[in-house]
Amino acid sequence: MKPANISALPKPGFVIGGKKTTESSIGSYDHLYPANGQLTYAVPLGGKKEMDEAVAAARKAYPAWRAMPVNEKRKLMNRFAQVIRDHGEELKAIVMAENGSPHMMADVFPEWIADLFEYNAGWADKIGGDMITTWPAPAFDYTIDEPYGVIGIIVPWNGPAISFGQMIAPAMAVGNTCIIKPSEFAPYSCIRLGELALEAGIPEGVINVVPGGGEGGTALCSHPGVDKLHFTGGGHTAQKVLSAAQPNLTPVGLELGGKSARLVFADADRQTAIQAALMGCIPMSGQACIAGTRVLVEDSIFDSFVADVQNAASYIKVGDPADADTAMGPLIHKQQMDRVLGFVDRASSNGARIVSGGERLGGDLADGFFVGPTLVADVDASHEVVRDEVFGPVVSFMRFRDEEEAVRLANATPYGLAAYIESNDLKRVHRVAEALDAGSILVNNAYGLPVAAPFGGNKQSGVGRVGGIHGIREFVRTKNVYINMA
Ligand code: NDP
Repeated sequence: MKPANISALPKPGFVIGGKKTTESSIGSYDHLYPANGQLTYAVPLGGKKEMDEAVAAARKAYPAWRAMPVNEKRKLMNRFAQVIRDHGEELKAIVMAENGSPHMMADVFPEWIADLFEYNAGWADKIGGDMITTWPAPAFDYTIDEPYGVIGIIVPWNGPAISFGQMIAPAMAVGNTCIIKPSEFAPYSCIRLGELALEAGIPEGVINVVPGGGEGGTALCSHPGVDKLHFTGGGHTAQKVLSAAQPNLTPVGLELGGKSARLVFADADRQTAIQAALMGCIPMSGQACIAGTRVLVEDSIFDSFVADVQNAASYIKVGDPADADTAMGPLIHKQQMDRVLGFVDRASSNGARIVSGGERLGGDLADGFFVGPTLVADVDASHEVVRDEVFGPVVSFMRFRDEEEAVRLANATPYGLAAYIESNDLKRVHRVAEALDAGSILVNNAYGLPVAAPFGGNKQSGVGRVGGIHGIREFVRTKNVYINMA
């Protein structure tokens, strides 16, 4: 295993009000490269003091940023997008070293983030309001979409660079200023993006970056100077976020976890469906909110389909994130790996068939936190491995007899982030897409979404949407103006 590319990483610290500082009021976290457990840096953690400073900086920057002519805002955001592209190689190296993203995933990130800024920059002069009919009253009524002010953004470790673009780009396009708190487990890409924003000419204080854990998160969520919060992470943490936001009644957008079902009908293209089933394991080693981790297969093809997926899984390269042909890297840290393996052990003890994987990988990978693609069959739908979000490369397979049963099983979860359909029957696809209770429906091995598409969850998978005009609306509030003309 090659060592971590520490030279690519920015020195960890805070980007607050245009300045980089490295002194923490509460201490630091020893960040380890997950592929070999090597220390990268002690990452200073943001606490109340740092959050107070960041909120003050964002508040100070807000009036001028809000008042900046929209064409100037758009130009600055487009320039930032270009700076992100210019630093593409550096950003790829950073995301590989911060959370073990494999090279082939990291490859698409800089362009994706740049695209998010360009797309949202285009909305800077397109939000406005509506004319409201007042007839027959002699009056004039209209609405204005306005920024909230200061937005607090909390993102997890599995895709912080993308989350940076998904939340900050729409928030700033409509005139808000931001504080982003990346996870202590993967802080580097957000820190570097914060620095690059300044290089691009984004005014100081518009984007502030304060890495940290629960203490910093609580300080941000309970801060009276924050006008709206946007949280991406797990449901248990979301409850803490809501509690901390509650005294100030701060509104909160939530992008949470999932336990997404993939429905494989017998008429599906077999090769496409096999690859699709493995997408529950491959991207970020299953540490992906939208992973399709419950694969429901039509009874008539169940056994041969599972055997085909097992065979295909044996060709997946798990290994060094820096290698161009690695499909799956490590899990983020040892606790996560132990948690994932615990789910598999308990499923096995309860009679489930572990078709492949389910063990920590050794050899060259022994120092890292690696688990290969893990396929679980013959498992009861009530078992925790089917019910709960494992957040690792574990996919369970279940049978269904007909369309009605497939939809019922797919919807039998408190989550509702995504659902997948593998079928060549167009009428069925439309019928089932309508019946599935999820924010995103992806058909025939579709993965990822256009930047203009809305993304978010139903039920316990979240509140609100990011992406497209829907994401813009998360960061504006509507004022109504009623003028008596009598
Ligand atoms: P967590 O909920 O543990 O952490 C998310 C963020 O919250 C991190 O920055 C974390 O910091 C921070 N945090 C921890 N404690 C608090 C607190 N008390 N108050 C405020 N913030 C706090 O999630 P994971 O890191 O485990 O991420 C995985 C989860 O995120 C999964 O459920 C996944 O599905 C979901 N997710 C959802 C996405 C979506 O778009 N729907 C996208 C990606 C992930 P720290 O990590 O330093 O503790």
